[in-house]
Amino acid sequence: MNAEEVEQAMLDENRGNVMAFTVEVESEKQPKKPEAKKKKRRPVTICLDACRYQVLRNICKERRWRVVSEDSDFCIWWSDLSIIPERLLQFKPYQRANHFVGMTEISRKDGLSKSLNRIAKKWPEEYAFYPQSWTLPIDLNDFMNTHKTLVHKRGAKPVYISKPTAGCQGNGIFLFKSENDIDPSQPQVVQRYIADPHLIDGYKYDLRIYLLVTSVEPLRMFIYKKGMARFATAPYVEPKDDNIKNTFMHLTNYSLNKRNKEGFVSNEDIEHDDEGSKRSIDAVWKILRDQGADVDQIWAQIKDIFIKTVVAIQPTLAHMYRSSLPNDRSGHACFELLGMDILLDSTHTPWLIEVNHSPSFNIDSPLDSDLKHSLIRDTLELLGVTPEDKARYMIEERRRFQQRMMPGYSHRDAMRRMNTEGERSRIEAWEDATLPQTNYEMIFPNDRSEFYERMMVEKGFIGFGVSVGVARRRAPQRREPVEEPPQKTAEELAKEAKEREEREAAIAARCSQLAKKKPKPAGPPRLKFEAGSIFRSGMAIGADRNKFALDQSRQRLVQRSGIREFVTRLQAIKEGQEIHTEGQPAAFLPYLEENKRMCQQRSGLVPGRAFHGQRRNSASEPSDRRKLDRSLRAEV
Ligand code: ADP
Repeated sequence: MNAEEVEQAMLDENRGNVMAFTVEVESEKQPKKPEAKKKKRRPVTICLDACRYQVLRNICKERRWRVVSEDSDFCIWWSDLSIIPERLLQFKPYQRANHFVGMTEISRKDGLSKSLNRIAKKWPEEYAFYPQSWTLPIDLNDFMNTHKTLVHKRGAKPVYISKPTAGCQGNGIFLFKSENDIDPSQPQVVQRYIADPHLIDGYKYDLRIYLLVTSVEPLRMFIYKKGMARFATAPYVEPKDDNIKNTFMHLTNYSLNKRNKEGFVSNEDIEHDDEGSKRSIDAVWKILRDQGADVDQIWAQIKDIFIKTVVAIQPTLAHMYRSSLPNDRSGHACFELLGMDILLDSTHTPWLIEVNHSPSFNIDSPLDSDLKHSLIRDTLELLGVTPEDKARYMIEERRRFQQRMMPGYSHRDAMRRMNTEGERSRIEAWEDATLPQTNYEMIFPNDRSEFYERMMVEKGFIGFGVSVGVARRRAPQRREPVEEPPQKTAEELAKEAKEREEREAAIAARCSQLAKKKPKPAGPPRLKFEAGSIFRSGMAIGADRNKFALDQSRQRLVQRSGIREFVTRLQAIKEGQEIHTEGQPAAFLPYLEENKRMCQQRSGLVPGRAFHGQRRNSASEPSDRRKLDRSLRAEV
């Protein structure tokens, strides 16, 4: 039986045709019959309900994947919106989502600023790739102090850029020099403006590079070698009062610059990807090389920036992943395709500007089409999703269910046997094998993993140590096949079950001996020694005995404290009888006196307010009460 036939059998079994697998196995021994009609392979199913990009639908069609709705049984869930833990919790172990919970820690402007500022306190030089930023209104004081210092040092006002915390496509962004130009009460991220960007043909541009994260614990990240450069549509001049408001000069957003009728040049020919307001990243590298820049060095710096950006929130991602997917088997239930924006300054130093968790897959030009088509195709290829994922999971589930039914089943053994490492290795092996056929390049883990992991550990989040520890432990074994613990034979299992039965019978015999010996306690029985409950198991017997002993000691304590007599006397006072203080513990006396007084008040014997609703008003009373409580406790 070849691999395809086995897969087919798994599928059949998954459809409820349990016999199929057995029949196929038996047919192996028999001479081959004329080839049966091949059954249709089940397609991969993908849910695109919350995805608006046609390119994804086209690629799914190309791959013969079936687009299904959210309430169907999908293999992949691809959405333009981020995912919440409650949604992920409903996922089955073979389903995959295109977002990680917690990625907003870097994909929102305020999140990115906070996360990178926090880790930069510990590693200032390593995180110098992010322009100095403040989240207003929280960081207003810090911003004002830094601003004043800079003005004092330079004698000129530096330029800042203000961005709404959750904005996109350049909306609401403006440049300013004076603190009076902003409303500090509005939530915004204020950032130092990179005033000397690298220019091509006199225009400012930024780079859009894609980063694929396939696992967060341990981290696995891939950078896409193809990308694009988006150009401003007005020739660049350093910000001055007369141009500071010119967004076509200072912002490079494609959607914004498209509106500039005079400056926007659309790229209509894939062969000429070095023209227009959107160009390929290769065209930019070529220009930089021609200018004598070390492009390999720039690329290495960009990879380093991407790793450090995700490293800054890795503990949060790992923690959220574990808590939203407690039954995950592979560590690959989520993936994320991030659009990273990089700006090169005049010295070719890359700066991180933004992280997009749902980069645009709009197709506007042949260049767009070529890039985004291959990007999505390669991403789906690298994920290695197959319809057999579900079948494999179902078979494993069924096996586990059968094991649970066997005598001598041990949950701990079963958990140990659960093939989590196997599933992870399978996906990672797939990624490694597929990588050369795609335009992706693995950037993490790499030969400097130890260094980045140190950064994670020293950041000191909850869960950091755990995730890094796990990553470290896994790293050297990642490629090795996982050995399953040997399965027990039927005889061994039967022997174990017999031994267990014998042990249980011995315990039951011993318990019945004990029960016969011990007479039932006098008085109304507080504990019922029912045969069913006492002979249940050793643990139940222990619990019942403990309860019995506790009850006994409680009764002794109550007797010794004299509280019963005390209550009887109170009752007598209430009924108008005289109080007898002889023989009472001294600590009770003030309380008894007080009660007597209240009873007399109630019956009109002494002047005072009615008893009902009356609060204790004597200053000494609460302390008397406390004293009484204390002495009672001491006595007990
Ligand atoms: P949005 O999500 O709205 O696109 P960005 O943070 O990407 O917001 O900023 C929009 C544009 O503004 C960027 O493409 C870039 O050209 C420019 N920009 C943003 N931050 C800076 C900065 N610190 N220095 C220089 N230019 C910047």
